[in-house]
Amino acid sequence: MAKKLGRKTSRLATGASRSARRQRSTAGGSRSATPARSAKREPRTANRGTRKYVYLFGRKTDGNGTMKALLGGKGANLAEMCRIGLPVPPGCTITTDVCTYYYANKRTYPAELRGQMEAAVGSLEQQTGKKFGDLKNPLLVSVRSGARDSMPGMMDTILNLGLNDQTVGALAMKTGNARFAWDCYRRFVQMYGDVVLGVQKRAGEDEDPFEGVIHGLKHERYHGNIEDTKLTAADLQELVVRFKALVKERAGKQFPTSPWDQLMGAVGAVFGSWMNDRAIVYRRKYNIPTEWGTAVNVQAMVYGNTGDNSGSGVAFTRNPANGVKEFYGEFLINAQGEDVVAGVRTPEPVAELKKHMPKAYAELERIRQTLEQHFKDVQDFEFTIEDGVVYMLQTRNGKRTAMAALKFSVDMYKEKLIDWKMAVQRNPADQLEQLLAPVFDLEEVAKARAIATGLPAGPGAASGRIYLNAERAVTAAEKGEKVLLVRVETSPEDLRGMIAAEGILTARGGVSSHAALVARQMGKVCVCGAAEVQVDYQARTVTVEGRTFKEGDWMSIDGTIGKVYAGQVKTAPSEIVAGLIDGNQAAQKTEKFRNFEQLMKWCSDATRMSVRTNADTPEQAANAVAFGAVGIGLCRTEHMFFEGDRIDAMREMILAETLEERKAALAKLLPFQREDFAGIFRALQGYPATIRFLDPPLHEFLPHTKEQQAELAKKIGTPATRIHQRVEQLHEFNPMLGFRGCRLGIGYPEISAMQARAVFEAAAMVQKEGIKVRPEIMIPLVGFKKELDLQIEVVHEAAREVQAEQKVKLNYMVGTMIEIPRGALTADEIATSAEFFSFGTNDLTQTGLGMSRDDSGSFLPHYQDLEIVKKNPFATIDASGVGQLVEIAVTKGRAARPNLKLGICGEHGGDPSSIHFFEKAGLDYVSCSPYRVPVARLAAAQAALAVKVRD
Ligand code: ADP
Ligand code: MG
Ligand code: MG
Repeated sequence: MAKKLGRKTSRLATGASRSARRQRSTAGGSRSATPARSAKREPRTANRGTRKYVYLFGRKTDGNGTMKALLGGKGANLAEMCRIGLPVPPGCTITTDVCTYYYANKRTYPAELRGQMEAAVGSLEQQTGKKFGDLKNPLLVSVRSGARDSMPGMMDTILNLGLNDQTVGALAMKTGNARFAWDCYRRFVQMYGDVVLGVQKRAGEDEDPFEGVIHGLKHERYHGNIEDTKLTAADLQELVVRFKALVKERAGKQFPTSPWDQLMGAVGAVFGSWMNDRAIVYRRKYNIPTEWGTAVNVQAMVYGNTGDNSGSGVAFTRNPANGVKEFYGEFLINAQGEDVVAGVRTPEPVAELKKHMPKAYAELERIRQTLEQHFKDVQDFEFTIEDGVVYMLQTRNGKRTAMAALKFSVDMYKEKLIDWKMAVQRNPADQLEQLLAPVFDLEEVAKARAIATGLPAGPGAASGRIYLNAERAVTAAEKGEKVLLVRVETSPEDLRGMIAAEGILTARGGVSSHAALVARQMGKVCVCGAAEVQVDYQARTVTVEGRTFKEGDWMSIDGTIGKVYAGQVKTAPSEIVAGLIDGNQAAQKTEKFRNFEQLMKWCSDATRMSVRTNADTPEQAANAVAFGAVGIGLCRTEHMFFEGDRIDAMREMILAETLEERKAALAKLLPFQREDFAGIFRALQGYPATIRFLDPPLHEFLPHTKEQQAELAKKIGTPATRIHQRVEQLHEFNPMLGFRGCRLGIGYPEISAMQARAVFEAAAMVQKEGIKVRPEIMIPLVGFKKELDLQIEVVHEAAREVQAEQKVKLNYMVGTMIEIPRGALTADEIATSAEFFSFGTNDLTQTGLGMSRDDSGSFLPHYQDLEIVKKNPFATIDASGVGQLVEIAVTKGRAARPNLKLGICGEHGGDPSSIHFFEKAGLDYVSCSPYRVPVARLAAAQAALAVKVRD
């Protein structure tokens, strides 16, 4: 969002191309949650009993702002503005039903359409006193596409439709302004030629062909590039002739002269554009259903190009980048609306209008207030001034950065425009993370050179000296250097380097790659899968576009947008992180921090579910608590075995051939685990911790290359062949479904016994320090009640022993992760033994769909293209499939044990739309990575509010 608004802002500041104009409405992807249109609705005109396809707005207005599904966003809001008395040129909206009909009936229209359009144009004629195609006072119209949401892939607007070689003369006569009339005409031929007749830049051409003609004429007649406004009526007349010739040549047909032919052609182009590639790509990206269709708006023209007392502009009622309550936008004198966004001329800030046209400015100020009072949200609107009179051409809720959204919501609450519940709803949960990310200094980044692009995997900005392996990254960081870890891809062995680094850049891997996952968990800035980045581990260099960077050279990455920059770009931590995690008092005094605190307080008031965190270290736990987590929902003990020398003891344990050997190795691991757990209990300050016992297949802990095996052999005094053998032995065809989870603990109960003992000894120790401790031991991958029972026995025995040894009473629970379908389906049996369930939705999705997450890259994107799955099921829960397993387990589990505690700890626990599902499923908590906690709190609050509203 920041990026997109940034792009828009820079367009506003510098002007941009026509294609940038096409992108204009890409800013933000959030959509209003209008319920899908009911197929049953059949609007009928009063008298003839036929369906109503055309809705008027103007003196008489048929529609209103709630009818976005039928009239599109633009049409509905034009109607709404008419209803509240804002000055809107009259027009009509052809409904989205016509679009549906068009595609259902081989691109034809309903029989009634033409008649209804003629009646509507008749009404426009009456309201304006002009006539369509008239030779005295011609009515000109604009034809505008308008889906439910603004869609940049759609057809561009056509202005001044109705002009031909005759009506142009009439317009000139009537206005006494031939230059103006010919300016309108050349614009019309240009736009219509482009968007309806398809005369556009061809592959290999640098310039839009119409712009090419304009440049040619300017060169011929003025020997240079003068401003468009300096062209005379005769120049413009000549342009029309040349444009038409261009159309004839490129499109192979004459430019249409009949206004009705022009109109029907334009309407067809709008509907046709619903299925063009750009629109399809955009819909896919933002999950807009194809069934929605677009509406078409036909509206009487008002003219911003009649002279210096006219103009056009776009504005926001408040600043959408930083949220400041100020009139924000820009305008051009003597221009039609398209010029403002097309970048042909550089617009002026809207405040300047005060000097040029004080009365129009005052009117716009009044309109700005009216819009906010009525829509109760920040509006993004388009206006035209014709001879000093202001007309409104569009309004919609303005897209905004997370920072602006936060400030808008708190400010509008204080202004009593909205209540606190609405304020909570106004902050898009999936954008909230932006507020926590470190930021690039804006001026600096403008100067920097972008050299590569990858996936924006961890939002924020990071700058550092590059290092290509974890060890050297750590050493450099210890010397106080800022480090950027650059790898082809990362693995658990790089963890220390990742922790030490400011940011992580990988050449390969997607958003659920190891690098991305760790980045999210640790809140690290990360760009992954930047294919242009070539990493040479041997030479210790990184090459991008022929430019080579050595270890120690500076690079910078923006994980919010996925960009890689050469050199150093200055960054600063977010005030919220500085305030909450570092306790920085200056940060706590900032408005951003205080607004965030206010929002989180509201979330606590609204929420039903609580939010826990997935954390494996005391630091992660403490951070999550600072963000408002009330416990750990998943502590993965295996991560703890990778640090330092522990991995060696772990490997010894795996290589052990006898129970005695194994126990000896486990005894070495126990103190490490105990220390880890103690640290976590302290960091949690009395909140519960769900600790999952060893889960991954053992081979994941062993070295796989020959060199690594030789090294390990030397270290622990074992022949390398033995290591090699054991690795072979542990090889599985399908490790995800193999010897892992509780199957390990059942095969080797001594592993579970060691882990249980470590938990309880740590609990006893911390409890004696006066801190409340609430361990919840979680047995993974349970499908049979008996599996759980066997492990529970081991846990209870360790608990009994430790309590007796330490003379303490410990408060603990034992439960299970529900992550395979059999576990969910037999939840009633399992719940007689389990005191809690935590849904492991990562594996539940893998096993429920029979789809390996790590192998899904080869087909899942295609599945999404084909809409077999609407969203990536590993990111957003497959509510209708996997979701049923959750619902069944909830119902059966609670039936067997009414006070069964229910949570979710998969990746989905930090995903806003999944959180809405879990709210409806009635879970007690969601758990997610520490830096997702605020997002989850916001989403959980919004879900609770949404459910309440519906109830
Ligand atoms: P987009 O959805 O791309 O913003 P619009 O349909 O809003 O396209 O049209 C773009 C611009 O064209 C408007 O902001 C306005 O300046 C101009 N425009 C559209 N209709 C009219 C009209 N009836 N009179 C004058 N200008 C218009
Ligand atoms: Mg517009
Ligand atoms: Mg699992």
